Amino acid sequence: MEFSRKRIRQLEEVGQALAPDSAQRAEMLSEVNQYAEAFMEALPGGRAFTVTDDQGSGLLDSPIGEQTINLDQALRLLDEHVFRPGVNIGAPGTMAYIPPSSLYPSALGDYLAAVTNRYMGMFFAAPGAVRMEHMLLRWMADFIGYPETSAGDLTSGGSIANLTGVVTARDAFGLAGADYQRAVVYLTEGTHHSVDKALRIAGLGECIRRNIALDESYRMRPDDLSRAIQEDRRLGFIPWLVVASAGTTDTGAVDPLDEIAQIARMNQLWLHVDGAYGAMFALCEPGRRVLRGIERSDSLTLDPHKGLFVPVGSGAVLVREAAHLLKAHYYDASYLQDRDLFAFREVLSPADLSPELSRPFRGLRLWLPLMLLGVAPFRALLEEKLLLARCFHEDIQQVDGFEVGPEPDLSIVVYRYLPKRGDANEFNRRLVESVVRDGRIFISSTVLNGDFTLRLAVLASQTHLDTVELAVEVLSDAAARIENEG
Ligand SMILES: *Cc1c(COP(=O)(O)O)cnc(C)c1O
Repeated sequence: MEFSRKRIRQLEEVGQALAPDSAQRAEMLSEVNQYAEAFMEALPGGRAFTVTDDQGSGLLDSPIGEQTINLDQALRLLDEHVFRPGVNIGAPGTMAYIPPSSLYPSALGDYLAAVTNRYMGMFFAAPGAVRMEHMLLRWMADFIGYPETSAGDLTSGGSIANLTGVVTARDAFGLAGADYQRAVVYLTEGTHHSVDKALRIAGLGECIRRNIALDESYRMRPDDLSRAIQEDRRLGFIPWLVVASAGTTDTGAVDPLDEIAQIARMNQLWLHVDGAYGAMFALCEPGRRVLRGIERSDSLTLDPHKGLFVPVGSGAVLVREAAHLLKAHYYDASYLQDRDLFAFREVLSPADLSPELSRPFRGLRLWLPLMLLGVAPFRALLEEKLLLARCFHEDIQQVDGFEVGPEPDLSIVVYRYLPKRGDANEFNRRLVESVVRDGRIFISSTVLNGDFTLRLAVLASQTHLDTVELAVEVLSDAAARIENEG
């Protein structure tokens, strides 16, 4: 390619737009901060869920290309088409699915992480930042009760953490392709679908899934697990992996982890515990009691963007023996040879413990709030959520027509309305629709034993007693109205 220095200079000049100067940065930050402040101030009174006419499609009228808009115009577009429609995480009324929270110091952590842009793949490239992430994982391992030999990775969420657990289990067990069709995974109807997805992504789509029976509280029945393993052995299958839930997404049920760990150990199976929803409750005393045995698992998924109230984008996986995690993920490459120059091998590099190489500095969004606020407020809020769920379970069964599921293990309550006449499933479908349209609280539903069932998932940091009392009121008003409409 012909080149002239003049042309190179011209290109440099056009590219200068990517590097705003100090005054420009200050102005941008102040504008963004002004928006962020207005947003944060509106959150506590804000709607939990908003349906807009065009569902954000107005954004597409401003195509990406040669034209530019200023920051003010950008914020307007975002406000109208991006930040308004849909679920408003951070509004107190969000109690659908597993509700995340918003945590301002964590957002500042993300901001700093992006500005300073540490390279997280390799220890030598960001030794302090990598140590910080190991420290956070150590902290989790300690309150879970994992040994010193454990290691982990900060992931984007629970799904990738489950995938990491499955892949680690596969390689630790030494499963070969020829075994896949005979390899058996034990789980339940309550197991999160990301586990099945992980099996497929890991190439294990052909292996056998055994759905172990549930007890009346939707927990895995250990006697049925034992029986199924013996039966499979007898038939010449290869029992391999047990996936237990430390809080199912549907009902919040915690499988009897201690008994399951005993069975897995006796039979030399890998035990992965999916604690994406529930494992963080181990931070508080009542949660720790419910989760007894979680420390005996071989690998564990946690989701700080659920139970640690940080914004979406934070999962974690812990593996009891670091060597297994390393075995499944370690790579070397010629272009990485310089990492040896600094003799920086004594601390494990994130890239050797996960499928990712370049990845964001996920530690700072956890470290900053934990250091600034300490663990106490997190522990308190977790215990509060456990109690709020019990409170709702109590209150809603006092309302005429409502029946409740089992006493919650953690912070999810299942319940439904039994109408005086007509189809209960249809009635509850109308009930959830009416409540969601109202917008003050946001709930969701599921199907249990064929019944359309409502859920209340109390986990968002800003959901407090007032919110739960409001939920009882909104639900009973809506039910009465639908009864009257006939
Ligand atoms: C939320 C959840 C997942 C998936 O986690 P993501 O962070 O959404 O990827 C997996 N298992 C359970 C039990 C969950 O509640």
